[in-house]
Amino acid sequence: MNRAMTTPLSLEHVWLPYTQMQHCPAPLHVVGAEGVQLQLADGRTLIDGVSSWWTACHGYGHPHIRNTVAKQLDILPHVMFAGLGHDAAYTLAARLASITPAGLNRVFFSDSGSTSVEVAMKMAVQYWRNQGEPARNRFISFQHGYHGDTMGAMSLADPEDWVHKAFNHYGPAQICSPIPRSEKDWADFKALLEQHAYESAAVIIEPLVQGAGGFRLHSPETLATLRSLTNEAGLLFIADEVATGFGRTGSMFACDEACITPDIMCLGKALTGGTMTLAATLATDEIFDAFLSDNISDAFMHGPTYMANPLACAAANASLDLFEQEPRLEQVAAISAQLSKELEPCRNLTNVVDVRVKGAIGVVELESCDWQTLQTLRAAFVEHGCWIRPFDRVVYLAPPFVITPDELSQLTRAIQHVLSSS
Ligand SMILES: *Cc1c(COP(=O)(O)O)cnc(C)c1O
Repeated sequence: MNRAMTTPLSLEHVWLPYTQMQHCPAPLHVVGAEGVQLQLADGRTLIDGVSSWWTACHGYGHPHIRNTVAKQLDILPHVMFAGLGHDAAYTLAARLASITPAGLNRVFFSDSGSTSVEVAMKMAVQYWRNQGEPARNRFISFQHGYHGDTMGAMSLADPEDWVHKAFNHYGPAQICSPIPRSEKDWADFKALLEQHAYESAAVIIEPLVQGAGGFRLHSPETLATLRSLTNEAGLLFIADEVATGFGRTGSMFACDEACITPDIMCLGKALTGGTMTLAATLATDEIFDAFLSDNISDAFMHGPTYMANPLACAAANASLDLFEQEPRLEQVAAISAQLSKELEPCRNLTNVVDVRVKGAIGVVELESCDWQTLQTLRAAFVEHGCWIRPFDRVVYLAPPFVITPDELSQLTRAIQHVLSSS
């Protein structure tokens, strides 16, 4: 069948994410994707500047992932993970334990970034309950943080964040702190830890880069200090690396750059190289051991139906092969340098308040951007052959690591053109 002839069907029965359906422009109809290119039904192609929500780190259709998943499909597409096991999951767990910060030896698989955070929260709460401290069931999280859209994960987000405002009256109330920047902030944070330690299970952070809350950066030193203060206060430290994991910030994991091991780490997004939904929550032996006893009620009570799906685990194993066989971190370093150079001129545009780059993430922050302008910007990028999807006040790039310098320049040029004419 001629792909270009496929006509988009009606949206009549579909409910789209984060979308006011009353004024919703029809989504672009995608019929295929290869490398960094999205192929549309009308024959156009777009360079994907955001890796499908930061997942497609090897680009689309990488033959190694495709072949590995195809083989797994023949062997075993799925089997339940309670009482039954399989190579794909055991191999992946061992590999994740070996490449993540030393000490994270146990891997709990689940389906999405949000559930990996739910699992981390449940682990932390039950860890304290198993130690005889059931009152420790709140979390300290950070302003502009984002940890997913499910109820527990949402409770950790900044309560001022528009994405979750509709639910502030529902769900557990957590403790939200700014990420400390000044002396006073640090003193406040220490006081907050002291005040709430008795009722708190853990501190949770997106290390180095807060993603969906506006791509705000903090230094490895800040991260390391937060980790050690949390430790001194006797709380657990959870690193939500769902967005930062697998090279995005320049090191394999953001925690590596600060030389820290969190007690619990969440992984998702790029785990399968952007091909299938899978997430993992990793824990240290100390956490794991707190669930060992002669009593079933001390066991960790969680188990998604599609836990450790073999196809997804095979895709993740293939993705890790590519990190070993292809120069991904070097590619990230090159992308980083190019983004810094080519986005810098945007700083001089009116309405631009900041330009920042971290690893393979480039951000141009606008002073203001209303909903209408967002739609206009998104459409203008498509006119330039680019899939760039600004949100809130940020125009950002998080391209596949396999993007060529020419393709990356097309993206940065589009940003310059569109922002200077808007
Ligand atoms: C995207 C994201 C999540 C949620 O992942 P989903 O797969 O969308 O559920 C959680 N935490 C962070 C830091 C994220 O960026």
